[in-house]
Amino acid sequence: MSAKKANLSGELKKYFGFSTFKGQQEEIINNLLNGKDIFVLMPTGGGKSLCYQLPALISEGTAIVVSPLIALMKNQVDAVNGLSSETGVAHVLNSSLNKTQTKQVFDDIKNGKTKLLYVAPESLIKEDYLEFLKDVKISFFAIDEAHCISEWGHDFRPEYRNLKQIIDKIADVPVIALTATATPKVQDDIQKTLGMTNALVFKESFNRPNLFYEVTPKVNIDKEIVKFINKNKGKSGIVYCLSRRKVEEFAQLLQVNGINALPYHAGLDQKVRVANQDKFLMEEVDVIVATIAFGMGIDKPDVRFVIHYDFPKSLESYYQETGRAGRDGGEGYCLAFYDPKDIEKLEKFLAQKPVSEREIGLQLLNEVVGYAETSMSRRQYILYYFGETFDPVNGDGAKMCDNASNPPKLKDATADLKKTLEL
Ligand code: ADP
Ligand code: MG
Repeated sequence: MSAKKANLSGELKKYFGFSTFKGQQEEIINNLLNGKDIFVLMPTGGGKSLCYQLPALISEGTAIVVSPLIALMKNQVDAVNGLSSETGVAHVLNSSLNKTQTKQVFDDIKNGKTKLLYVAPESLIKEDYLEFLKDVKISFFAIDEAHCISEWGHDFRPEYRNLKQIIDKIADVPVIALTATATPKVQDDIQKTLGMTNALVFKESFNRPNLFYEVTPKVNIDKEIVKFINKNKGKSGIVYCLSRRKVEEFAQLLQVNGINALPYHAGLDQKVRVANQDKFLMEEVDVIVATIAFGMGIDKPDVRFVIHYDFPKSLESYYQETGRAGRDGGEGYCLAFYDPKDIEKLEKFLAQKPVSEREIGLQLLNEVVGYAETSMSRRQYILYYFGETFDPVNGDGAKMCDNASNPPKLKDATADLKKTLEL
């Protein structure tokens, strides 16, 4: 073992208190420290943050971390600052800071104290930030949630599109891009947009063997969900609905049925929203009924079920949302209700959109319908979508879906898969 590697383990222990690296973390960090551009595709919970936090802490200068959500950044900054006895090791730079606070951040960077600077892409283009950052020592750039660059991703942010030009203006340093989205289209888009086609790619399996996948027709849905939750009394769960109105209605319906549930969506008053989320995290409430606004960056390890009241708009979203179950490796039941009429409604909605958006939307819907209607192993289907092969007989978690444990009907499942995915 090289001296550098032994050293890295020491730093891991010192800052994070962990004795071993997870997955390919060590190799990723070593390559980044050696000046390589890196692309990391790892499922949620895989330990992506450490791949840039640790090298940032031990490098000279400041690493710039681009991240899409202010709430996410704040959590991370607090966590990093908790790792070190020094203050100002990590900062957020955005428009919420007043002049004095901004000056403090700038001073800490100049003095070499700040190892991680979290910014949203829309802040990075501000002229005075840009001018300042050009003149200080930058160790590397980390682009977290890099799928936000791609229209094929589940969370496209136009501000991410111009990142490459901004980075080039600031410094000529290595870039590490990280995402939990691994569809080949998104991957390709990210690499091209960031000019990283020569980057070293580290991809981990997206298989979540402890999750059970079930898709069921949307009939008597309210009753069915109440029954399901009552059977799982006291366990933590999330119910996803597409509209805010549905979220409110259904949370009420659950409450009326004696279930400890609260709503969550972006239209709620900020205070209520945060309070409801906290109650869920603190286990004062069992079930959260939510739109997709809920979940990004929320790390509750013991969510035991994720129910889709409405089918999601892409297989990618489905994977991300179901992925919030069983983070601790324990039981995670993923139950989705499917009605072709819901898909028709979504298609009508897409018809009003600009052409490119419509085409992407329709293709994503096609793929998710294929998944809903398939009779093959759901795990195999999902993993195929992420560019992985999976053995539906002996693979890890092979029995963990409705089609595997209770095959619906005999038909040529492989032809089915090809038809849907090679459109
Ligand atoms: P991701 O961004 O890939 O979703 P995170 O960076 O949030 O994942 O990490 C998920 C969890 O794994 C965190 O609780 C983190 O502390 C933990 N973790 C990361 N690396 C290690 C490690 N080497 N050993 C133990 N736990 C780790
Ligand atoms: Mg992350």
